Formats: sequence, C-alpha cells, structure tokens
Amino acid sequence: MEMHNDLNSPYILWLKTPKDMDPDLINEDNETPQRRTYLEQGLQNLHEIMFFCEEKYKCLQQSLLNFYAWSADTSSSLCGNCSNCQRRNIERPDLFNVTGDAIRMLKIVKELIEELEDDNNIFRDDIIGVFLQLKNKKVINKKLNSLLIYEEDFNRAIRNSKQAFHLLDDLINKKIIIESVTLCKSSSGFWMPDSKIVGIAGDAEEMIYSYSWDYYL
Ligand SMILES: [Zn+2]
Repeated sequence: MEMHNDLNSPYILWLKTPKDMDPDLINEDNETPQRRTYLEQGLQNLHEIMFFCEEKYKCLQQSLLNFYAWSADTSSSLCGNCSNCQRRNIERPDLFNVTGDAIRMLKIVKELIEELEDDNNIFRDDIIGVFLQLKNKKVINKKLNSLLIYEEDFNRAIRNSKQAFHLLDDLINKKIIIESVTLCKSSSGFWMPDSKIVGIAGDAEEMIYSYSWDYYL
C-alpha cells in the first residue's frame, strides 16, 4: 500500500470487539428503524469520504468545492497548492477521458439486471469481473462469462482493477448506479454492512454525459 503523509494515508476502520461493545447496541429490540436508517446513511457518507481520500492527483480544493456546488455553478479551477496538486506537478500523470468506460460499466449493470435471476444479487465484484473480462472463480461460478457483453471487444482506458473500482465508486457516488447499503445482523450478533447493486438512474446515460470523466491514470 502506498504511504502518504496527508489525506491519502491508508485508513483503517476498527470494529469493536464484543467485550467492548455496549450490550444495548447489539440488542435487536433497541435497534429502531430510524436508527438503522441513520446508520445506513452514515455508511454511504463514509463511502464518499473514502472515495475522496483515494484520489491521488485530483485537486482537493476543487473536489470539495465541486461536491458542494449547485449543478449550475461554474466549476472552480485547480488550487495548485494542495498535496494532490503538488504530487501531480511532480509525477506528471497522464490524463485520460474515461467517458466510454463509464458508459460500458453502465451497460454491464443493465445486462446483469436483465440476465441474472431475481434471487441472484449483483455485487461490485460481478461488475468489475465482466468489465475487466476476468476468468476467476466468482465469474465462472456465476456464469458471467456467458453474458453477451462479456465477450464484446472494448478498448478500455482503465487498466487495472483498482482504477475500475474507483470508476464504479464514482458512478455510485453520483447516484448513476444505485447501490443499496443495509445493516444485517451477523451470527455473532453484530450489525454488519451488506451492499448490493440494485439498479440504475432513469436518465443514467444522460447523467454520465453531463459530467467530466477526466481521470489521471
Ligand atoms: Zn489543489
């Protein structure tokens, strides 16, 4: 894992051990629907923060301003001072337009929704497996390699799974691909996050074209 002395430092999430846990917190009777919804929303927010922390070259100031901007606001310019701007100026990564990759990922989700049985959930790994045309156990067991889109030739700008997951997270954070995050109780009594892909936005393709998809790869 790469080490940086700034926002890109590796993050570790600690889960409390049973003996540290307040028994009231793991008592299902006390887990009201409102509190569950609140925690589930918190998990989604956490995903957005993690996505932001993974960026190595995107201007941090610009990303923050764009995140809070109204859609009609003009985009802010690069600050040139933040750690990511400084790293970009030193390492000079290439800028790629990944709009075609984003459209491709959307088509994969559409086909997975149409082709998989109702009780066969769609997970992030499934989308990446088809996108990168992987031949691993998960892909073969779920017969994802028999999907038409799996076989189709496609010239990707994205080169590896880390970049592919980043693009997928971007599509999820922008609510173009819809992920459901719920809390489920494990056999040991803990509330664990359970996420699956449940659909796409009604105007998903238009949404993709309304954003800039320039990635430093
Ligand atoms: Zn900057």
